[in-house]
Amino acid sequence: MNDKMFKKIRFRLTLLFTSLIVIFLISFTVISYSLLSSLITNKQKEQVITLAEAEYAEHKNELFHWYDHAKNVSSNKARNDYLEYNPEAPFFYYVITRNGEILDGDESFPELRENILKTIHGWIPQNEEVRHETIKMQNGKTISLLLSGKSVFKNGVYIGTIYTGTNITMQTYVVKTSLMILSLISLVFIGLSALLGYYMSGKAMVPIAKSFQKQKEFVANASHELRTPLSIFQSSLEVIEADEREKMGEFSLLVLDDMKDEVKRMTKLINDLLLLARSDADAVELNKQWFELEPIINELIRKCLPWAEQKNIEFLTNIQEGITMYGDKERITQLLLILLDNAVKYNVENGLIRIMISRESQNIKIEINDTGIGIPKEHLHHIFERFYRVSKARSRQLEGNGIGLSIAQWIVDTHGGTISVQSEEGKGSCFIVTLPQPIQ
Ligand code: ADP
Repeated sequence: MNDKMFKKIRFRLTLLFTSLIVIFLISFTVISYSLLSSLITNKQKEQVITLAEAEYAEHKNELFHWYDHAKNVSSNKARNDYLEYNPEAPFFYYVITRNGEILDGDESFPELRENILKTIHGWIPQNEEVRHETIKMQNGKTISLLLSGKSVFKNGVYIGTIYTGTNITMQTYVVKTSLMILSLISLVFIGLSALLGYYMSGKAMVPIAKSFQKQKEFVANASHELRTPLSIFQSSLEVIEADEREKMGEFSLLVLDDMKDEVKRMTKLINDLLLLARSDADAVELNKQWFELEPIINELIRKCLPWAEQKNIEFLTNIQEGITMYGDKERITQLLLILLDNAVKYNVENGLIRIMISRESQNIKIEINDTGIGIPKEHLHHIFERFYRVSKARSRQLEGNGIGLSIAQWIVDTHGGTISVQSEEGKGSCFIVTLPQPIQ
């Protein structure tokens, strides 16, 4: 885990914290808005319905009278002039016959009459039905109205309706403004909580970073300290082998070979750990130069061959002729060895390993394809993590410690390239590396 990882975790924690605050604030805003708006509208609805009842009781006789005496006489125009105009009244009503004539009314906005009549034209309100209408005036202003009404019947025949209404523009404005204010406050709080989350997660990371630093130092020191005794051990084994091999029995020779293998394995592990510790501390310097790739691949194949032959694995290469690359030769060799090593290790009997290297515009592209056991989908995103091994059961019998691919990833990163894998369980895997090259 390096600085980049810490930053990523910090960013994720901040994101998580902020998302929770966003969910909380959105719920709060939606609930407050719904409560406020239903509280205000319900009150207005009740009032307009009560008014409809009252106006019905007061004016239904006018409709009866009209029905009995003048139902065919068009008195629309004449009666309009007698409408009362009461600018102070919070409510208005119209008594309208089934022919659409206004018999009576009391209005606060005569200029709205035409629009209101258009809106209610043909509407026969059902029991306690309320409509919310927005009317656009000529001067561009919009007015919100709440309308209700009660229909009048005589002997089962519909004869007209008494419509009531109230202007709720102010209330609508208050509800809308409160939604805007709530949203604005929420936005400010989201911003503040993102900043706070970033600050707090930074604080939380400090002790973790410290203990991680200590652990890194320990690994670096321990690996360094172990290197010397291990190399003494190895050279001592070589001396014993050279001097005593002739005198040794079969069993002792087997033990000696096992010890040599174990020392080799431990030396490799210690070197890998040390490399990772030094890479974390940015203490590894790259020695970049131009070099040919083909001889390196051939040399690595030669190294892997004895092991590959045990499983009868075949190598196929398709390397662009004379291809050269610019990079740290030692590290690129290590990267190729890790990938080839895995391609042999996780391959099956009579398997195949295909190596393709080519130059594609500004990149060197390396593909290492095997016909091995493959990697299950759910593990693909993790295999480059340190010490990650796919299912202990399948890798137990295969040596390894889950460091190889994290070193490969580090080498590719330090060269500014990318490494990716495509794999299907039971069919094989293909590792693709691209390494950007300077313009020649
Ligand atoms: P190791 O091989 O030491 O376990 P690596 O970091 O090299 O560690 O690989 C991590 C894991 O990815 C391995 O445990 C293995 O399960 C999986 N893996 C890597 N290369 C291959 C491959 N070519 N085919 C199948 N699985 C692979």
